[in-house]
Amino acid sequence: MDTEEFRKHGHELIDWIADYFGNIRDYPVKSKAGPGDVFGQLPDSPPDNPESFDNIIDDFRDIILPGITHWQHPSFMAYFPANSSPPSVLAEMLTAAIGAQCMIWQTSPAAAELEERVMLWLRDMIGLPQEFSGVIQDTASTATLCSILTAREKKMSFTSNRKGLTDSSRFRIYCSSETHSSVDKAVRIAGLGSDNIQRISVRDDFSMDHDHLRKTIEPDINNGYEPLCIIATLGTTSSTAIDPLESIGKIAKEYGIWLHVDAALAGTALLLAEYRWMTKGIELADTFVFNPHKWMFTNFDCSAYFVKDESALIRTFEILPEYLKTSEATPVKNYRDWGIQLGRRFRALKLWFVIRSYGVNGLRTKVRHHLRLAHDLLKQIKEHPKFEILAPVPLNLICFRYKPNGITDEAELEKINSTILTRINDTGELFLTHTKLNGKYAIRIITGQTNVEQQDVDNAWELVKRIAGEVISS
Ligand code: PLP
Repeated sequence: MDTEEFRKHGHELIDWIADYFGNIRDYPVKSKAGPGDVFGQLPDSPPDNPESFDNIIDDFRDIILPGITHWQHPSFMAYFPANSSPPSVLAEMLTAAIGAQCMIWQTSPAAAELEERVMLWLRDMIGLPQEFSGVIQDTASTATLCSILTAREKKMSFTSNRKGLTDSSRFRIYCSSETHSSVDKAVRIAGLGSDNIQRISVRDDFSMDHDHLRKTIEPDINNGYEPLCIIATLGTTSSTAIDPLESIGKIAKEYGIWLHVDAALAGTALLLAEYRWMTKGIELADTFVFNPHKWMFTNFDCSAYFVKDESALIRTFEILPEYLKTSEATPVKNYRDWGIQLGRRFRALKLWFVIRSYGVNGLRTKVRHHLRLAHDLLKQIKEHPKFEILAPVPLNLICFRYKPNGITDEAELEKINSTILTRINDTGELFLTHTKLNGKYAIRIITGQTNVEQQDVDNAWELVKRIAGEVISS
């Protein structure tokens, strides 16, 4: 493709994207494709000769698009959001065009310095203490792995990278029974053994029971284990429960245990002063992660990882082969030493575009709007005699179920609610997902999509009520 062709198709695609954003409500939010539908339409072998870009785009429209679930649809109220926004998309175009590898300062000084600056902005925007410095990771899973690896290295006086894990089964990792599965994965990869995860029970609101935490740590120590790390979650995946950070932090300090805070979704709410109660005790944490790629309008991937002890992180990951040595006169940040990958995308650009384009106040307005939408809906669900709320709603996620009069059998309620969920999702008008809380099947609905509006939430609630009524009368 030459430059003029690129210009022509580029303009066409920008028009397509603008129309996509403008008309997204016309798409079925959840793809109706069945297993194998897309695969079966793709040729067995790649083309030997160049194909026209028009053909490629036609196939994108005809084959790929029907197999897409539209995460940017305002009626995408499933999982947690993975938001995009126009400034983020434009920045991604530039990132792709520049194609810079942002591994060391010299490979793009602007990328390193912009990352440093936007992470300081972000730290202050969400009210983290000044001792924290930040780095952009691809995902919260990676950030949590980095944290656990750093905890391991620090505990082993930075010897395990060299000598390997000689007796790793001594270590214990503590998290609640509601913690995200990325912790299990990180513990496995770090060689610590998932049998060494102690799952702390939760209180009625699904947050970690800190008394149980203490009661688990003490016998562990008496039995010769070494407590390595606690993972506290602000906004658990099932129900957005908020672990009591200050109480957990005090226990961590008392026993000299590393504390990582996973605020993958909830971190965005910290833009709002009225949500800073969640981080009371944050000064006791060692590391903190949240995902602008979830709820802060910055398209995947962009995970903000903050650490108190920058040198421990760098010491954990630093490897300096001759071909990467440089000779800057003043200290610079070489982010390759701040995580797992060597090659790094220029993710700071989209964060910068988003923060500047909305302004901090614009971001706050949007997030507040999403929270208000959820709380207004919560009120309506609570007031409906046939629906039941299954968990507190500290943020913008509601876990509920249909519970028509007289039905108390859990298996029957699960059948009814899973049928409601399937039928809702089959309409293509709304996409919701489920979880289980205390063994009860719960439908989850979250109002966090970039452009979700009151009308979208009203439509969702009407659809839920209509389908629930149909299921029970069928
Ligand atoms: N932590 C929590 C609480 C999550 O809800 C999720 C994903 O939803 C993750 C971690 C993993 O996020 P990522 O996909 O960025 O690894």
